Amino acid sequence: MRYILLLFFVTSLFSKEFDFNLKVKKIASSTYFIEGKKEYFSQNNGGDIANSSFIVGDDGVLVIDTGSSYIYGKQLLKEIRKITNKPIKYVINTHHHPDHFLGNQAFKGAAIMASKYTKDYISKNGDEYITNLVNIIQYAMKGTEILIPTKVLSAKYINLGKHKIKVLYLNGHTKDDIVLYDEYTGVLFVSDLVFYNRAAATPHANINQWIKTLNTLKEIPYKLLVSGHGEVSNSKKPIIQMISYLKYLDNILKTSSKKGLGIYEILAIKKPKEFKGIFMLDEEFERSIINLYPTYENRILK
Ligand SMILES: [Zn+2]
Repeated sequence: MRYILLLFFVTSLFSKEFDFNLKVKKIASSTYFIEGKKEYFSQNNGGDIANSSFIVGDDGVLVIDTGSSYIYGKQLLKEIRKITNKPIKYVINTHHHPDHFLGNQAFKGAAIMASKYTKDYISKNGDEYITNLVNIIQYAMKGTEILIPTKVLSAKYINLGKHKIKVLYLNGHTKDDIVLYDEYTGVLFVSDLVFYNRAAATPHANINQWIKTLNTLKEIPYKLLVSGHGEVSNSKKPIIQMISYLKYLDNILKTSSKKGLGIYEILAIKKPKEFKGIFMLDEEFERSIINLYPTYENRILK
């Protein structure tokens, strides 16, 4: 009997869908935001580490990033349905990182749009992302398959009724990062070009280009800034923090390679006080040094 009960318990545990417990926040007129956790992928958070947003237009909904799994995408759609029954008109994948597009499957039938580079990258490397994430996240990844963006986004504007949304094609975090600026509400969606109070992930970054892009973003007269990771802000603080962190990273890589330091010596250097309180600082800094240091060392050798 005990074994039957145990079997029943185990079966019910695994048939229940992972609950992301998504909390939707209205941040501006018909504009909604769901904040991901300031963490790395884990079984516990089910991969819920990136922000998603949506705008309800006059005749349809625009979704910005779909999370890291099919189940997340489904639960995001469920939250949207609590607010509106209008069709999902557009889904934007801001860039090719898996925490921003693996929920696409839940939006089958909508125009799923990305830059050409992002679309190609997803079709080439998408399955590898799934394999890696299934290993880390496991249970919450159940049923996740790649749904490649169905359209290449190249327009300067997306019209969503009164929401006139300017599309900016930028780069730095990856080779192609899409930024959306809603001229009606003044909300600027900068995707992973900004990580706010959460250290930046840099596996596909070009640090100098990224800093240049951030200086461009700083000039936009936005009312609210929605980053890819971290809370919404009505100030320039997130961009300033981001520039400061990237400059620090670039500088430490440059000076360390000139001095011929090893990776462990760099990691032992005390970080500036201004970055205190930034989530994931030690982990992401270490990942960045390991990733980027060889490039800086090669520059010295040339
Ligand atoms: Zn990213």
